[in-house]
Amino acid sequence: MARNKVQFQKGLDMAEFQRLYGSEEQCHAALVTMRWPTGFICPKCTTSKYSFCTPKRLFQCSGCGLQTSVRAGTVFQKSKTPLTKWFLAMHLMTCSKNDISGM
Ligand SMILES: [Zn+2]
Repeated sequence: MARNKVQFQKGLDMAEFQRLYGSEEQCHAALVTMRWPTGFICPKCTTSKYSFCTPKRLFQCSGCGLQTSVRAGTVFQKSKTPLTKWFLAMHLMTCSKNDISGM
């Protein structure tokens, strides 16, 4: 019987997960890379030039002035839960071989 490669792929242990996604900055950077793999692109005018407002983590388009965040338009939009908790929940849900609590 053939083995399913997806089912037997090596997972990410908790220590490695914490090293890669342990801080809000790391999770934000990972989300930026996932959303805009070639760099920021304005959703309104498709300009790639922007300025970044660090305290609120907002991207401001240099073309049209639109302010947006990496969360806008994703499942994380309007969530006040830190990305570290979202990433941990996604990690636990996808790596757990048993049931996990929704809490
Ligand atoms: Zn724009």
